[in-house]
Amino acid sequence: MDKIKVKTPIVEIDGDEMTRIMWKMVKDQLLLPYLDMELAYYDLQLKKRDETDDKITLEAAEAIKKYGVGVKCATITPNKERVKEYKLKKEWSSPNGTIRAALDGTVFRAPILVKNIPPSVRSWKKPIHIGRHAYGDVYKNLEFRVPEAGKAELTFTNAAGKELFRGTIQDFKGPGVIQGIHNTDKSIESFAKSCFTYAYDQKIHLWFGAKDTISKTYDGEFRKIFEDEYQKNWAAKFKATGLDYFFTLIDDAVARIMKSEGGLLWACKNYDGDVMSDMLGSAYGSLAMMTSVLVSPHGFYEFEASHGTVQKHYYKYLKGEKTSSNPMALIFAWSGCLRKRGELDKTPEVVEFANKLEAAALQTVESGVLTGDLMQVVTPDAKNHKVYTEEFIAEVAKKLKKLLQ
Ligand code: NAP
Ligand code: MG
Repeated sequence: MDKIKVKTPIVEIDGDEMTRIMWKMVKDQLLLPYLDMELAYYDLQLKKRDETDDKITLEAAEAIKKYGVGVKCATITPNKERVKEYKLKKEWSSPNGTIRAALDGTVFRAPILVKNIPPSVRSWKKPIHIGRHAYGDVYKNLEFRVPEAGKAELTFTNAAGKELFRGTIQDFKGPGVIQGIHNTDKSIESFAKSCFTYAYDQKIHLWFGAKDTISKTYDGEFRKIFEDEYQKNWAAKFKATGLDYFFTLIDDAVARIMKSEGGLLWACKNYDGDVMSDMLGSAYGSLAMMTSVLVSPHGFYEFEASHGTVQKHYYKYLKGEKTSSNPMALIFAWSGCLRKRGELDKTPEVVEFANKLEAAALQTVESGVLTGDLMQVVTPDAKNHKVYTEEFIAEVAKKLKKLLQ
């Protein structure tokens, strides 16, 4: 069989621990036998980031800007323990944060649905995609403990040194707490653009929820920017495709989500997205069944799994034990990346390969061949049995070969 040619190089970003082990298996058994592709390879394992003073991370981001589409393995975000474990020069920042900042992008997550793992919410028939604004608000706050009675004020002084406003937050009668948060029009506009781009790409409706009845200026600005972006750049396209943009209060959005059948993008402010993405993840079954894509408003894409490096499984692997880690989200990161590459290159055979790869992976789970995490959430059936990662990937490979013949 002739290999399928991928026209433009794909940016491949390798990572750490158990996901690095699975990454190689997926590549060797599911991709390289069938695809003739050029890979712009960046090794972001922690050791390499340390050796290059993290320059490799920036280079990987630049490569995505150059080629347009990348796929990333999970990477360790170092903390104090990791600094010791890997004898690092310093506590390097999160590679995902660095790449996101470089591409000015928004992260979208979507569950992988299979027939034999029903979501906890019965009405959900199609995936609910979630987009989290990952800049500002309480994640970049200034907060103080107020020790005693006194006045807390909010002021703004412009670049020329002129105070433009000043207001009382609270006249404290005793101890308490205060917090200052912010956002920028530029970041909210990028977020809105990425959300409309993603929803239109996926052909799904877009919902956005905020609390502009209470926060008339702050959340009001989010609502206004989304509405302006919609009217200016998307209303005609959305209508022509039968898609809706729907703004509602965040609490109403939550209530409606629980009764919806899915098939939509839920755009969330930073905190809402942090909380709600964990709720969706667990309601759909397993962390290993959540995909993630970074979409930049400038038209760059980076695909990955939502989960981390599965550290605990890796330590077992190092001891020579076999693990039953689930490679589904990694496989879907590759299929998502290949599909997007094929769409941009106008190579339908690459898109078709991506579809078949996903079909093979879905068929594997639906035939009852399951990794440990899925055994706990699958609908009970006599055919279900737990396999190690190698066996799972071998089964996907077998099914893929059949689909490609
Ligand atoms: P994690 O790697 O997502 O794993 C948490 C737990 O979820 C695992 O211990 C495992 O549960 C289960 N799990 C996750 N993925 C699985 C899979 N593919 N198959 C089977 N089970 C899976 O999160 P973590 O342990 O908190 O973080 C580990 C490292 O990953 C950290 O260094 C963190 O910085 C990094 N991280 C990276 C990214 C990224 O690059 N995108 C994202 C998050 C975290 P059981 O142990 O119960 O089996
Ligand atoms: Mg969270």
